[in-house]
Amino acid sequence: MSSTLRFDGKVAIITGAGGGLGRSYALLFGSRGAKVVVNDLGGDTKGEGKSSRAADKVVEEIQNAGGIAVANYNSVEDGEKIVQTALDNFGRVDILVNNAGILRDRSFARISDTDWDLVQRVHLRGAFMVTRAAFPIMKKQKYGRIIMTSSTSGVYGNFGQANYSAAKLGLLGLSNTVAIEGYKYNVHCNTITPVSGTRMTEGVLPPEMFDELKPEFVAPLVLWLCHEDCEDSGGLYKAAGGWYGKFRWELTEGLVCQKSQEALVTPEEVRDNWEKIIDFKGAHHPASTYEDSALLAMALQGNRGNS
Ligand code: NAD
Repeated sequence: MSSTLRFDGKVAIITGAGGGLGRSYALLFGSRGAKVVVNDLGGDTKGEGKSSRAADKVVEEIQNAGGIAVANYNSVEDGEKIVQTALDNFGRVDILVNNAGILRDRSFARISDTDWDLVQRVHLRGAFMVTRAAFPIMKKQKYGRIIMTSSTSGVYGNFGQANYSAAKLGLLGLSNTVAIEGYKYNVHCNTITPVSGTRMTEGVLPPEMFDELKPEFVAPLVLWLCHEDCEDSGGLYKAAGGWYGKFRWELTEGLVCQKSQEALVTPEEVRDNWEKIIDFKGAHHPASTYEDSALLAMALQGNRGNS
């Protein structure tokens, strides 16, 4: 496995690639032979305003380094137009990195309708719109690699980010189902939770971390997940400052509290068995609803055998 990972002949769309993480993905893809659609609306972190400058600058950087790129200035909410830019200029779409994002942080009780809606529209609906436009093309050509960008704020929650957390974990659900539906067509979909010093995290990350966690450290994970040699799909990965890892679900062995087939379970029985219900000793790691259902069936069957 010592060969260089190349993307010659492949077309990659990177949304929100006019700065931060998206820019670093676009530059690396461009340097590895991909033809890149650099999408960016060019607004501020709150989703206000727009400008073509951000995307144009990155296209220029790729071209100056000898790569091939074209700019697109649509919002991710107009997903079809972004995909059309790839088709018009390069005739195909192989890779889609859903990266565009904004923040409208407020403590939960103070979130306005606009704060909620804009964040859902850019992150969740935006990724849906671009992916829905690209997916049939990828399915038909039996090759596609899609990335969704989640966040540890979605995985764990974060004060002041209820709107963002909800959208970011929504993206994981979207990714998991796209991965299932795309797998037999060699269309893979994975999710990342990056941590990096960008304008989005300025003043949030401590200054020394801000400088250390360069976007360039996240890009290698994205490129590997998007390469044709990478077989993984439906995963959730984390990348920060040169560290890379993977998340998975953990489900306790649990306990069947039902005493006999006819009996119902009382709240007191749940309370009295709480330690066992939440005990992670001997926990399982189901990776699909099938595995989850099989574990449940086994537990219930075991109980029937005992009663
Ligand atoms: P960033 O602000 O530098 O980049 C986001 C880009 O998206 C901007 O260039 C912006 O113009 C563009 N954008 C915003 N709305 C758009 C729209 N409607 N259509 C097209 N483009 C639009 O921030 P970043 O840190 O590079 O963030 C990239 C992604 O990574 C985001 O989805 C963010 O939520 C996610 N993320 C970042 C971190 C981090 O530590 N930086 C952590 C977790 C998740």
